[in-house]
Amino acid sequence: MRIAVVGSGPNGLTAACRLARAGLEVTVYERAEAPGGACRSAPVLGEGTVVDLGAAAHPFGAASPAFAALGLQDRGLEWLHPEVPLAHPLPGGPAALLRRDAEGTARGLGRDTRAWRAVHAPFAEAPEAIPRNVMGPLLRWPRDPLVMARFGARAVWSASALARAAFRGERARALFTGSALHSMLPPTHPLTAAFGGVFGSLGMTSGWPVARGGSQAIVDALVRTLTEAGGSIRCGVEVTDLRELPAHDAAVLDVVPSRLLELGGTDLPERYARRLSRWRHGPAAHKVDYLLDGPVPWTDPAVAGAGTAHVVGSTREMAEAEAAVRRGSLPQRPFVMVTQQQAADPSRCSLPGRHVLWAYAHVPNGCERDVRPLIDAQIERFAPGFRDRILEAQVTSPAALEHWDPNLVGGDIGGGSLSGLQQVFRPTPSWQPYRAGRRGLYLCSSSTPPGGGAHGMGGWNAAGVVLRDLGA
Ligand SMILES: Cc1cc2nc3c(=O)[nH]c(=O)nc-3n(C[C@H](O)[C@H](O)[C@H](O)COP(=O)(O)OP(=O)(O)OC[C@H]3O[C@@H](n4cnc5c(N)ncnc54)[C@H](O)[C@@H]3O)c2cc1C
Repeated sequence: MRIAVVGSGPNGLTAACRLARAGLEVTVYERAEAPGGACRSAPVLGEGTVVDLGAAAHPFGAASPAFAALGLQDRGLEWLHPEVPLAHPLPGGPAALLRRDAEGTARGLGRDTRAWRAVHAPFAEAPEAIPRNVMGPLLRWPRDPLVMARFGARAVWSASALARAAFRGERARALFTGSALHSMLPPTHPLTAAFGGVFGSLGMTSGWPVARGGSQAIVDALVRTLTEAGGSIRCGVEVTDLRELPAHDAAVLDVVPSRLLELGGTDLPERYARRLSRWRHGPAAHKVDYLLDGPVPWTDPAVAGAGTAHVVGSTREMAEAEAAVRRGSLPQRPFVMVTQQQAADPSRCSLPGRHVLWAYAHVPNGCERDVRPLIDAQIERFAPGFRDRILEAQVTSPAALEHWDPNLVGGDIGGGSLSGLQQVFRPTPSWQPYRAGRRGLYLCSSSTPPGGGAHGMGGWNAAGVVLRDLGA
């Protein structure tokens, strides 16, 4: 049987690998000149540098059952763990640190030690339950109902409410709330506590690593897996009509709903197409990559050992920043995620004394303003002297992100907003979210469960449905 996969992001490639391994004849079509979607790396800051153009830090990649099943770590992928997975610098005091173990993290949080343990207990006690239960469709009976019931009791809260109720100090509150902002929702939004809990728990169990040599290594390992299994990739081919592709028994699409609606030859049932047309995109990322003439001069030196830092300040500032983004205005002090890959992976910069630094800010979808001064200022707040270290900066606006990868509509890096029902029903309310309205056509992008992230689980789950539908 022949399968056409459109798009070679982590999800498209993972679907292709699973299907090729099952003995199907798989061809992947990719519009870009190289595979990988938003998980590519390139030396854009000059020879000797490796810059992650999209995904940088991999709490979900490291925990991904799909990547484990495909054996990516036997095919060149190596996770490198920084000394500290995550730091949250705070004004006028030491940073809050997420460590590789719940106990170490809790002990660093002073009077919130016991509360931190209690909030994270469901997953700290059963870490294997996280990927099993949260990296697929949520509309199903959980694999570990007792763990999920305990987790659910926390997850339904907003991150702000749970942090206020559970913790007494700003450090624990900020550490928890900062992780929740990966939902790209204001922390006052219901269910955002789920993100704080899952990101924190992953960091404290399987870690929050980077890939040796760049996130591209994930893609390279997937491509190796695919070709070993007999599949092939054709780059530089933009698919606009499925009827132009060689005959196939099923098509698996690594695209967001709006792109699916633009494709010809899909024969989408009308009701399904109508539902897809209501899909909403979320806020955007505005990215800046820096070449520095030394490490970032963090006020708290502990932040230097962190792979990821949430640079925004207090819980109040986080809520204000994300509320502004939600209203469609650019906050003066946006949430900035910084990744210091070099803290774990020296191969990211071979220029003596130089450092590469990856950062993005949350901004409104499609924001056209020059955000770099705000990102510089946020980092400078917690690392005075940072600006003087900048040798070069490469700015990637939301529009530039979309131009690079059409799935990043308006700079939305998560494949669609997680607000309202879109967190649970991706892309439409259905027991079978990967079937695109009919048998033979499948969606596997980050607009399907479990959502954004370079973990391949959308692709893995979609491929499972294809195999069942084809009886293969
Ligand atoms: C700036 C940025 C930072 C991020 N940071 C992180 C992070 O730190 N950690 C993390 O886990 N995730 C991160 N992400 C998110 C992560 O990269 C994405 O969720 C992930 O790449 C989604 O994978 P995907 O396979 O669904 O789609 P994509 O990676 O978007 O790939 C889709 C592919 O399909 C191709 N395509 C689309 N339409 C067509 C067509 N008609 N014909 C042919 N090809 C087509 C595109 O060119 C693209 O290559 C980040 C993303 C960005 C942009």
